[in-house]
Amino acid sequence: MGMHPVMGGGRGMLPGTGLVRRGQEVPEGKKLPKGLVGRVWREFARPYRLRLFLLLGAIAATSVLTVLPARLIEVIVDAISQPAPGAATAINLAALGLIGVALAAGGFSLWQRYLSAWIGEELIFDLRRALFDHVQRMPLAFFTRTQTGALISRLNNDVIGAQRALTGTFGTLAANVVQVVAAVGLMVSISWLLTLIVLSVLPLFVFLAKGVGRRLQELTREGMQLNAEMNTVMTERFNVAGAAVAKLFGRPADEVEEFSRSARGVADVGVRSAVVGRLFFTILSLLAAAGTAVVYWLGGRFALDGSMSAGQVVAFGVLVTQAYQPLSALTNAPVEVLTALVSFDRVFEILDLPHPIADRPGAVRLGGEDGRVRGEVVFDDVTFAYPSAADSSLASLERGFGEVLDATTGPPVLRGVSFVAEPGQTVALVGPSGAGKTTICNLVPRLYDVTGGAVRIDGIDVRDLTLESLTAAVGVVTQDPHLFHDTVRANLRYARPSATDEEIIAACRAAQIHDVIMALPDGYDTIVGERGYRLSGGEKQRLSIARVLLKDPAIIVLDEATAHLDSESEAAVQQALRTALAGRTSLVIAHRLSTIAGADQILVVDGGRIVQRGTHDELIRAEGLYADLYRTQFARATT
Ligand code: ADP
Repeated sequence: MGMHPVMGGGRGMLPGTGLVRRGQEVPEGKKLPKGLVGRVWREFARPYRLRLFLLLGAIAATSVLTVLPARLIEVIVDAISQPAPGAATAINLAALGLIGVALAAGGFSLWQRYLSAWIGEELIFDLRRALFDHVQRMPLAFFTRTQTGALISRLNNDVIGAQRALTGTFGTLAANVVQVVAAVGLMVSISWLLTLIVLSVLPLFVFLAKGVGRRLQELTREGMQLNAEMNTVMTERFNVAGAAVAKLFGRPADEVEEFSRSARGVADVGVRSAVVGRLFFTILSLLAAAGTAVVYWLGGRFALDGSMSAGQVVAFGVLVTQAYQPLSALTNAPVEVLTALVSFDRVFEILDLPHPIADRPGAVRLGGEDGRVRGEVVFDDVTFAYPSAADSSLASLERGFGEVLDATTGPPVLRGVSFVAEPGQTVALVGPSGAGKTTICNLVPRLYDVTGGAVRIDGIDVRDLTLESLTAAVGVVTQDPHLFHDTVRANLRYARPSATDEEIIAACRAAQIHDVIMALPDGYDTIVGERGYRLSGGEKQRLSIARVLLKDPAIIVLDEATAHLDSESEAAVQQALRTALAGRTSLVIAHRLSTIAGADQILVVDGGRIVQRGTHDELIRAEGLYADLYRTQFARATT
């Protein structure tokens, strides 16, 4: 009796079920930003305002219906204790009323559950979509510094926490408040004096509940910490590298000693929080019992005086329990609300991360209306340093992941790089590893933005172009192209979703990969990628060339494979490259003499600068880095 459907029986009280949600951070004196609730409302809750309103209505109706039976019981008891004509009818009607109220309460609580599930799921959908979209637009630098696992688990936990905030916590809160108000209202309507007396024990009650609740919360937090410690010891020792170190240097007895310390702590806290949790309940039920005793004692006296009827005393007794119970849940409400809001706060923290590489206001389309791109690429006195943690929001997010980042600006990686690649030209970049060749290539499709100078395509600074038109104009083939865990066909179509099967096959033929694909177990429907069919390096690169051919960009950025291929794949890759580069401007990080010798222009990069430039013949004649590289590397690489 008096159990509220939303509360699920004193929800928010049991250790590990509500007071402190497992796996979720409990705000510890954390200040929530002002206006957080307003923002949640504006950005996520407002679209559901009608349903939220209905939900509140359903909650209110359920709560009121929960306390209503007390008045019907009063009617029955009074009819029994003071039999009058029509008493039997009154009893019949009241009993029917009890059933009716129960039916209505059941209906409302079902409807309420449906509404809260609907709102919750829609909200989760909105949040996930917004987060996915925001994170995928983050610059590459973000992904190089963020642990994917931590990011994903954080996104998942916060989204679920936020959903709980909107439907669970606030639903419970609303239900409890309405139930207290309804119960106290009915109590006052029976006897204001008795209500006043019963409520006067409340301060003591709240005080005790708060104290024990806080202790329970501390214990749960301590338990979570000890658990994490224990898990750390296990993961550190039980991975291959750790296990090897422990075997070579470790003393198993000491190891188990150390593990036992944290495991013992977990056990102790478990026992203590079980006892404190029970203590909490015991205090609550003692107080409820005391309250009920007071009601029956004083109420009984009032009934003897004739100032209250027997039915009123019984009804009051029922109402007292129904008022105390949600009150006890409400003592913990501030913590619950805060915990729930923290999730939203963390979601907003991610949504507020700036997008430094995005369309500028008034960005123009490369190639104008008809989209014809000439493909002239100009580097004008470009300097570049990899972004640092000075970007405070990114840093704070990462600090959230337990990473402390060096806050200084990285060293310049490129200095005064200037060159012009005419439309259709092939420009080869050569130089020792770490010279900055990849970095130069990354600046063309704006994987990063220059820190000084400018990169221009057809005379327009790439930062003034729409990202969409820039991406369409620049095709990139990396050394080790990434394939998604999907079919060959889907991976190819990623470059151009509208491509027909014929176009896909034509591109694969041109890239010298069609025959290889046809020999796969399921042809174009073979699953490739991380856990799929493993293609060789040369095959992957040719697939990636086919992908670029489908995309048909005016400019190609290519990182030639350094790995030695067998001569057959080598010939196939060279043939594929000739097709791919024909008629396009290309920037090639070249490792093979054939590619270099065929280039219109060779840029020799060293220490972030262009130290030599010219054609193969010119550079061979001039003594310098190129001639050295030629003698030590290229000549050998083309055997
Ligand atoms: P190359 O392609 O000529 O081998 P890179 O352009 O890859 O050279 O690297 C140039 C320099 O930039 C190197 O010193 C490298 O350590 C540094 N670098 C490359 N990528 C990053 C990154 N994501 N963050 C910081 N430094 C980087």
